[in-house]
Amino acid sequence: MAEVKTEARKIKNYINGEWVESKTTKYEVVYNPATKEEIAQVPLSTKEEVDYAAEVAKKAFEEWKNVPVQKRARILFNYQQLLQNNKEELARLITIENGKNTTEALGEVGRGIENVEFAAGAPTLMMGDSLTNIATDMEATNYRYPIGVVGGITPFNFPMMVPCWMFPMAIAMGNSFILKPSEKTPLLTEKLADLLEEAGLPKGVFSVVYGAHDVVNGILDHPEIKAISFVGSKPVGEYVYKRGSENLKRVQALTGAKNHTTVLNDADLDDAVKDIIASAFGSAGERCMACAVVTVEDGVADEFIAMLKGAADNLKMGNGLDDGVFLGPVIREDNQKRTLEYIEKGVQEGANLVRDGRKEKMDNGYFVGPTIFEGVKTDMTIWKDEIFAPVLSVVRVSNLKEAVEVANQSEFANGACLFTSNASSIRYFRENIDAGMIGVNLGVPAPMAFFPFSGWKSSFFGTLHANGKDGVDFYTRKKVVTARYKTPDFK
Ligand code: NAD
Repeated sequence: MAEVKTEARKIKNYINGEWVESKTTKYEVVYNPATKEEIAQVPLSTKEEVDYAAEVAKKAFEEWKNVPVQKRARILFNYQQLLQNNKEELARLITIENGKNTTEALGEVGRGIENVEFAAGAPTLMMGDSLTNIATDMEATNYRYPIGVVGGITPFNFPMMVPCWMFPMAIAMGNSFILKPSEKTPLLTEKLADLLEEAGLPKGVFSVVYGAHDVVNGILDHPEIKAISFVGSKPVGEYVYKRGSENLKRVQALTGAKNHTTVLNDADLDDAVKDIIASAFGSAGERCMACAVVTVEDGVADEFIAMLKGAADNLKMGNGLDDGVFLGPVIREDNQKRTLEYIEKGVQEGANLVRDGRKEKMDNGYFVGPTIFEGVKTDMTIWKDEIFAPVLSVVRVSNLKEAVEVANQSEFANGACLFTSNASSIRYFRENIDAGMIGVNLGVPAPMAFFPFSGWKSSFFGTLHANGKDGVDFYTRKKVVTARYKTPDFK
């Protein structure tokens, strides 16, 4: 834990509709990663504070679940408008605490709002099914109900979008929600909570408890918290999934990634380079849908690698609030150090360093320049591990089949993209690649809110994914009524 050097503002928890100072004595510094400036102190709250939030949330749930669904939806309509009205401020907060540039931050705000819009369709989404005449005089109806108190644990890389995958749908379905945001990016959540209150959400339906593992364990063990949505790294997701399941909770854990993009000989190379650069180096590579590896067919490999390097050379690195900046910092000094170690490891293991981002390391923030390796092999650490930084590996392959075989050796299977102009290649790729989200001639195949965010293998633990109809199912439980109505005897 970093030592607090200044009197940076102490962030409070949001419980029962009030901002309350944490009872903890432990605070962690929140930095602006582009300047290393200490911008706030975040409490590492205690288990007792989770207990209090859960008690409040349980009480709020008993009333909230009975609020007519269209009234709940109306609060989300208000919320959508408030988020729209505040989108510049929300984006500014994201850039300050996360480092991504303003355009990307605005994009994130848009993706968050999209989830609120989807959840506002709650009256339709919550409808059950029914069937008359299942036997003589008998019918069956399937109703949906909320499940109770839901906990959400979120990562630093999307402080707005990822929480919005969770709480809008959860509360629209009639649940109450406790959010544990990343301790690295707590500022945006304050604004999310304030605007929810302004939208008219009753006290206690949404709470925020800041902290780290003690709060997570408090959520995982609390008997009144019935379901957990987690997004973050694989080791933590695995832990959350196991401990939550052991406590008989419903758990969905969206985890790490190592996304492969394939470029075939017949691809439009200009488009491929533009999209891959944006995917690999946008948000400093700190996206679970970032392109981490390109498998490129031999016929265009040399030309593609040269174009990639040229495009990377032109990226402007700096503070995301400044005009024209594309590449911001990674989130913390540890992440910067870890990335530099990975680059060194890549060199030691024999990969060819085409572009060395270490040369332009800027010391005023946690920057790493765009880095490109080629000649990467599947036994190298830089191919296997999720680096989560602006480091791209290129693997040369002789055809599409080999490209798919390479990608499928990864333990992760979040997204995968293909650049080609051949329909048969697209079909082969779609049918054979291990990935839950596929992009054809695009760089970041992140589905919109009404489709599930559907990672496979070690990129997801659980059954029901976030978003889409999976989200509706995850935050509801069903009750099936089978009834006999005897036909009246009119004689
Ligand atoms: P992280 O796993 O370090 O943290 C995620 C959350 O877990 C945070 O709230 C954190 O406080 C908590 N946490 C961390 N360590 C913990 C521990 N030991 N015990 C209990 N809780 C703990 O992840 P991060 O660094 O914030 O985010 C980056 C990761 O998230 C990457 O691996 C990325 O791929 C992944 N991610 C995945 C998706 C997806 O949809 N699959 C989306 C975004 C991010």
